[in-house]
Amino acid sequence: MLGFLGPSCVNQLDILLMTARGNLFIVSAPSGAGKSSLISALLKDKPADMQVSVSHTTRAPRPGEVNGQHYHFVNVEEFKALIAQNAFFEWAEVFGNYYGTSRHVIEHTLTQGIDVFLDIDWQGAQQVKALMPEAVGVFILPPSRDELERRLTGRGQDSADVIASRMAQAVSEMSHYKEYDFIIVNDDFDTALADLRAIIRSQRLTGASQIHAQNDMLNDLLAG
Ligand code: 5GP
Repeated sequence: MLGFLGPSCVNQLDILLMTARGNLFIVSAPSGAGKSSLISALLKDKPADMQVSVSHTTRAPRPGEVNGQHYHFVNVEEFKALIAQNAFFEWAEVFGNYYGTSRHVIEHTLTQGIDVFLDIDWQGAQQVKALMPEAVGVFILPPSRDELERRLTGRGQDSADVIASRMAQAVSEMSHYKEYDFIIVNDDFDTALADLRAIIRSQRLTGASQIHAQNDMLNDLLAG
């Protein structure tokens, strides 16, 4: 189900578009493509100019997941109250749970000149692209169906039905790959990470980004 974003957000977004300096990257992938590992590796050294957005979700924490670090874990009532407050930049129901991206955090982070990474599904990606067309969509694919199945099978503890259902979900997510600006095939991890870094670097070099990043230098160069 797609999230509803009321008309009041449009003016705020216009303001954001005029002042935003950081780049917004949307990263989507089916489970098993290695998206989380790639984003973790990218941010391993805590670069000051990149940040991943921590979503709100109604799903239960998995073992090892920390509230506020992996997700902000909330119940359905809390999530719906946040929707009513227009607190989400985008939100969606994914596999029976709600997930949403905080509007305030995105706006605040981008205006500080920090690039933001959204680890969201295709529904969220469509909403973000509609609101902010210059957001850069990156889709990560596994190298083959066999390899995807191998990655989704995990330690061999799941039933054939569970694996078949994970494969069906993965195929459903992958069917949206054409809606993204870039596609990375994660066969060799280091190559995929280098590809992701190349996308970020080239986006930072676009004229639209450089106008913000090099504002003072450009004014100085062009002073009459
Ligand atoms: P998981 O529950 O496995 O962490 O995530 C399930 C799916 O929800 C993944 O595809 C993930 O990218 C997506 N997701 C996580 N946070 C958000 C969000 O804030 N918005 C949307 N639309 N999808 C999200």
